[in-house]
Amino acid sequence: MLVLMNTATEEITLQIKETAKNFANQHIKPHVMQWDESQEFPAHIFHQMGELGLMGVLVPEEYGGSGLSYAEYKIIIEEISKVCGSIGLSVAAHNSLCTNHILLFGSEDQKHQYLPKLASGEWIGAWGLTEPNTGSDAGNMKCVATKNGDTWVLNGTKSWITHGKSGNVAVVIARTGESRAKNNATAFVVERSTPGFSGGKKENKLGMRASETAEMVFDNCIIPDSNRLGEIGDGFKQAMQVLDGGRISIACLALGIAKGAFEAAAGYSKQRYQFDQPISNFQAISFKIADMATEIDAAELLIMRACALKDAHEKVTREAAMAKYYASEVAVKVANEAVQIFGGNGYTKEFPVEKFYRDAKLCTIGEGTSEIQKIVIARETLNRF
Ligand SMILES: Cc1cc2nc3c(=O)[nH]c(=O)nc-3n(C[C@H](O)[C@H](O)[C@H](O)COP(=O)(O)OP(=O)(O)OC[C@H]3O[C@@H](n4cnc5c(N)ncnc54)[C@H](O)[C@@H]3O)c2cc1C
Repeated sequence: MLVLMNTATEEITLQIKETAKNFANQHIKPHVMQWDESQEFPAHIFHQMGELGLMGVLVPEEYGGSGLSYAEYKIIIEEISKVCGSIGLSVAAHNSLCTNHILLFGSEDQKHQYLPKLASGEWIGAWGLTEPNTGSDAGNMKCVATKNGDTWVLNGTKSWITHGKSGNVAVVIARTGESRAKNNATAFVVERSTPGFSGGKKENKLGMRASETAEMVFDNCIIPDSNRLGEIGDGFKQAMQVLDGGRISIACLALGIAKGAFEAAAGYSKQRYQFDQPISNFQAISFKIADMATEIDAAELLIMRACALKDAHEKVTREAAMAKYYASEVAVKVANEAVQIFGGNGYTKEFPVEKFYRDAKLCTIGEGTSEIQKIVIARETLNRF
């Protein structure tokens, strides 16, 4: 039976939690609404987080990272997301997608070349799978890489990419075989300065507004074969493995958002008086608090199981999808109830819950929608019978 335990000592875990929490409260919290309103992507914050080891959480120390486990990574994403989902999303995408793809599938040369820069926060990473016409159906990509001697020529557009404009380096999954054929995609690492690689349209979003989401455009972009990650044809398979870890991080993001909204609403329910008593005295409100607390704990347990399996190097596709699916839906529900508990105040930008409400929705969409998670969970579960 799987034991839900953190691999770190309690003291180290507490230190990690305090570091992330203090940073979020001191350096992120005062600017949250300003960044949200202006859709400013605060790149400097990521450089500062790099100095604290928060940008290469899972990267071994030999490549300049913090060498921590998923159990510890959970705490970091959660603490940041309690304060700002946008920054939580960007830290998650940088660590789990771009950086982790290079860590999992890069050659030693590639790891030494890119991981120290990413782990220190000197460089911000992007990861491009999605295209304008292929989101859930990511295998049907149109962005192509054509071999030309010792180089590849990239052509096409990746859309909805976190750090699509500001990322200093991107992992890009492009089609290298026939459309709809098996093993028809390959992953490449592409530096921002490469001619033919540019940032495209930046999205104007409902939530997660301080996390940059933009197109990456490749126009006869020539990259050396040495920038290929792993074998030709393995790109899609690699992406699915990267997403197993990525889904855990989106679950942690959702958990942080849910906890942030819950803590605000629980506190408010004891301070807000109506009919000469705190609104928490009304069963209608206290039962909301009970449901929110129970669902948050259930989400956290699913996440802890997925982290424990990942740290034990076990297959985690089903458990990561369950954690991501459940935690995301809980975040949306909890944020919705939090706005309800705040009443009219919840509908204004003077109080934090309207932002949690807007940010939470991304969690049911990014890195595979809730519907896609259910497809994965059903497939992986039925395979057992
Ligand atoms: C803020 C943000 C950041 C993102 N960052 C990145 C990034 O860094 N890198 C990256 O590559 N991508 C990124 N994405 C893209 C994201 O992963 C996709 O939006 C997501 O996978 C869904 O794809 P889609 O938007 O094309 O929706 P679609 O695939 O068009 O889906 C539309 C609807 O149809 C449903 N649907 C589709 N297929 C099925 C099916 N077979 N069965 C049942 N229902 C189905 C979906 O669940 C959804 O409800 C980001 C997206 C957002 C919003």
